Amino acid sequence: MDWPQQAPFAAAITFDMDADSLIHAADPEGWKRPYAISMGQYGPTVGVPRILETYRRLGLRQTFFIPGWCVKTYPRAVEAILEGGHEIGCHGWIHENPAARTLSEQGEDLDRALEAIAAFSGYRPRGYRAPVYLLTNDTPSLIADRGFTYDSSMMADDEPYALDLDGRSLIEIPTHWGIDDWPPFAHYAEIGYMMPVRGPSEGLAPFFEEFEAARRDGGLWHAVWHPFLTGRRARWQVVERWLETALTSGAWFATLGEIADHAEGLRRAGRLRTLPFPAYSERQT
Ligand SMILES: [Zn+2]
Repeated sequence: MDWPQQAPFAAAITFDMDADSLIHAADPEGWKRPYAISMGQYGPTVGVPRILETYRRLGLRQTFFIPGWCVKTYPRAVEAILEGGHEIGCHGWIHENPAARTLSEQGEDLDRALEAIAAFSGYRPRGYRAPVYLLTNDTPSLIADRGFTYDSSMMADDEPYALDLDGRSLIEIPTHWGIDDWPPFAHYAEIGYMMPVRGPSEGLAPFFEEFEAARRDGGLWHAVWHPFLTGRRARWQVVERWLETALTSGAWFATLGEIADHAEGLRRAGRLRTLPFPAYSERQT
């Protein structure tokens, strides 16, 4: 792909600040689980300040996806993110599974989340990432109706592409499980997620291999990290050391909003791959 400023490739770190929304969404008794709550709270109270300090020192502006409930519950972390000039994207209301919600409930969840974010000087997010990537066939229309310009929940390509929504379009900035830090770092039996936790360098090595692959292809490298996982001390020290070198690579480090704007320009010039939304109209047998 072509990138602004003749950059040879592009890069973005996204952090999903889920905090303890996960345990509340997954378990009606979640409010009685202090260990799980404390693990999530590490994100907004320790991970985010640490990450923001690195970004400040290195002059980086990046994207954070935050459930509306977390915006309301951890306003200081959100204030600090916005003060640093970073982008906030919508990540559902309380990390609910959109596929378990009715159409009208999905709309209500989005509106509640947008309202919580708007409390910060009327901030209006332009990007959406579905909790656990579980968007539904209705999600693209629901977010396009609310003025979002991009989604980052699907996996159909390495590079950004356009989603054709019957006359409307949405930019998709795709992800995949190989650029997500849950597989190497999350052990969370209470929500049924049990992975062998990798050491910091071992767990982060695949992300850096992905970065080299994007450099070779002139593509987009994109990470989906979580402050309570990759924001932990030893892991973040590995990231910090790597970032200092990565920033000399010539990559265009940008927010997903900036990448979506660039992709939209390519789309209008007929230079962006366009794919139909991947939903069947009936059960396949
Ligand atoms: Zn999440």
